[in-house]
Amino acid sequence: MFNQLQPVPTDPILGLMTEYKADNNPKKVDLSVGVYKNEQGDTPVLAAVKKAEEYRLNNEQSKAYLGMAGDVRFNEAMTNLLFGEHDVVKSGRVKTAQTPGGTGSLRVAAEFIARCNPTAKVWVTNPTWANHISIFNAAGLQVEEFPYFDFDTMGLKFDQTVETLSKVPAGDIVLLHACCHNPSGMDLNLEQWQTVADIAKQQGFTILIDSAYQGFGEGLNEDAAGLRLLASQVEEMIVCSSCSKNFGLYRDRIGAISIIGTDPAKAEIAFSVALGVIRAIYSMPPAHGADIVATILSSQELTSLWHQELDEMRTRINGLRSFVVDKFKEKGVPGNFDFIAKQNGMFSFLGIDKESIATLKKDYSIYIVGSSRVNVAGVNDSNADYLADALAKVLN
Ligand code: PMP
Repeated sequence: MFNQLQPVPTDPILGLMTEYKADNNPKKVDLSVGVYKNEQGDTPVLAAVKKAEEYRLNNEQSKAYLGMAGDVRFNEAMTNLLFGEHDVVKSGRVKTAQTPGGTGSLRVAAEFIARCNPTAKVWVTNPTWANHISIFNAAGLQVEEFPYFDFDTMGLKFDQTVETLSKVPAGDIVLLHACCHNPSGMDLNLEQWQTVADIAKQQGFTILIDSAYQGFGEGLNEDAAGLRLLASQVEEMIVCSSCSKNFGLYRDRIGAISIIGTDPAKAEIAFSVALGVIRAIYSMPPAHGADIVATILSSQELTSLWHQELDEMRTRINGLRSFVVDKFKEKGVPGNFDFIAKQNGMFSFLGIDKESIATLKKDYSIYIVGSSRVNVAGVNDSNADYLADALAKVLN
């Protein structure tokens, strides 16, 4: 059975993570993997999470099965976090199920889409998070790219985005990142979200939003403004969300899928199909992370502690963006990196060539993904000079 198998190459980012761990250089810098890091380079458990876990330890009553949709308190809290006081919530047009992480949510969405229309093409930004392509392919769906990020200007190619989306037919899916676009850091502004909404209405394709970084860009509500705008104007939509980054619950695997239907009855039918998909993949999601998020969001005290911690993470990331630009200028790194300060979330492309990326790893133990995507949160006061000096030497 197994003899004819060929090895699957390691995910390049996870491979770099292993190399980084094995590197003995005390000056090593990891800008590759997509987790938030504090000034000390750590990814600690949030205090709000610790408190909710303590509460759970003392109050959990049962380990009996939860059901396919997971924790109903969590589902309600996530719906509110994503949509706020939105009409789709008030009118009962949105239904949310807990999933194992954002990845689990996307995988459920992919199977759900395949049941709606097995020949649907899923249109993703060029570039996008690499796993998007694997996830939709795994459900037998074809993935197409639409132009999005412009490496010449380090901004958007929005004219070309519009041109391509204007040809996407009804029955296809267009995947947009809610905020903090991974890997480019370039987000749509509200006017551009409106343009996409207009095209979606005109063409009749369905929008899928991936919201993996709510609260990491400009703020919890600001980061959901695009998806809320769309939800007001289109009849059907899917939102896949993750609590990995904003609650720091990466390994607890907690996320959600929200399905908006034309009316409550149609939303209910669509939701039952999604639950059927869940039943056949993992039956039901794990309880821990959902209980933690639900406990935080149902307590005023823990919510305000979480808001403080999230603000701290966001402020640090945004501060680092300007800090890095200034540091590169001070150290004479050739090129204009001003774009870094204008982008959102943890990621930006440096736009440097593969040879320089390899030299940075080999000679300086600085780990950057081959596409030149960096996680800005990997920079801190103690490694910024080393990083900028190395870049200046390698790029000059
Ligand atoms: N979507 C995007 C754009 C992401 O960057 C990530 C995480 N890297 C995810 C989804 C999935 O996150 P999770 O760890 O919750 O599966």
